[in-house]
Amino acid sequence: MLPRPLAYAQAPIDRAHHLRSDPAHLATLWSHPDARVLMMWGGKHLTTADAAPLPLPPTAIGPTPEQSIFLGLEGTIPVFAHDWGTAEEEPTGTPQDAVWRDLRENGPDLSGADASQHVYARGLILWHRRTNFCSVCGSGLTMTDGGHVRRCNNADCGASHFPRTDPAVIMLVTDGKDRVLLGRQASWAPGAVSTLAGFVEPGETLEQAVAREVFEEAGIHIAEARYIASQPWPFPGSLMVGFEAVASSETITVDPKELESARWFHRDEIKTFRDGWFAEGEGWALPRQDSISRFLILSWLHRPT
Ligand SMILES: [Zn+2]
Repeated sequence: MLPRPLAYAQAPIDRAHHLRSDPAHLATLWSHPDARVLMMWGGKHLTTADAAPLPLPPTAIGPTPEQSIFLGLEGTIPVFAHDWGTAEEEPTGTPQDAVWRDLRENGPDLSGADASQHVYARGLILWHRRTNFCSVCGSGLTMTDGGHVRRCNNADCGASHFPRTDPAVIMLVTDGKDRVLLGRQASWAPGAVSTLAGFVEPGETLEQAVAREVFEEAGIHIAEARYIASQPWPFPGSLMVGFEAVASSETITVDPKELESARWFHRDEIKTFRDGWFAEGEGWALPRQDSISRFLILSWLHRPT
């Protein structure tokens, strides 16, 4: 169970920000012979039978990119994303033998570049789907700027709305020696444990959020918190900001509204964990392959002491 590179954290593409506000240029990119479109339907991604990404040519979508999102350039190749909605019937343009898959299921199996492009597409598509009305005046919104802005249709308002990302801190709490604090929620699979995590609140630094969440959930005080890495997590719209924190107290008091249980685990015990929440066997289990929780645990476990 060696740590592997953090999933979804590769630079997925040249975002070519300067091209987003130029509809004529976007139309030219749409007609590029090698242009490709990542497809979503009902929250699932279009894949081949063996679960590789299956982008479509723009001609499968329509003559213009107006309802598609410009993700950027991979080399000189334009890459777009398009949402085929949420209707129960499978879209008629679905290629034969293609399969719609949920990133929550096949994400851990994708290559780093593919996975990172898919979370980029997924984050934007879910934001569009959940952002139907202007939060200033309540009017409808229209997609603009290559799908990176939604603008209010009310001329007296005209507010621009930008894609939303909700920061959440996720922290591996150690005792400064050989033990870490892991918790589990009652709804998780038997034996499943994870690092603690929670959303950042207004007026709060990331470090303050780490200390507050650990105390709220487990009653543990934090002496220091050190940033490790971050990970886009568009389920639906988070950015997970990963920390390693050192506890200054030891007695755990679980908040039953947040956790079913939490306890200290020695590093030797973690080495016996099953390789994933749904891996066969009994006993404790590491979080899923693509999670930053697992990355934080294994990075700590394998760091020279
Ligand atoms: Zn408005």
